[in-house]
Amino acid sequence: MAGRRRRGDVVTAEVMEQCKYLFGHAWYPYDAEARDGGWMEVVMCERCGSVRRTPIDRNGTTHGRQYQYADGYRDAGSTYSDRADARAAFYASTTHDELTARRKRRAG
Ligand SMILES: [Zn+2]
Repeated sequence: MAGRRRRGDVVTAEVMEQCKYLFGHAWYPYDAEARDGGWMEVVMCERCGSVRRTPIDRNGTTHGRQYQYADGYRDAGSTYSDRADARAAFYASTTHDELTARRKRRAG
């Protein structure tokens, strides 16, 4: 995958499984706007494209969060019985080259 996801990109079951059962979302700053004396922070997951909106007051305190999940995310089941099973299957089926490809691209 080159670069960050954009809304509308196809999100595979494999990617959703990584966010939901293995790593959690990979948030990055996407947008922000001044609101009610504070801000509305908007971050997006670079893997699945889900969006999280967080109201922040002038002191930096957060006040609840709203999530807009990628299509199919909520219903995405896991083929694994639990997170330990998912982790074991992921690392058993992924080569070292696959795991380090992104790091090597960055270094190159
Ligand atoms: Zn995600």
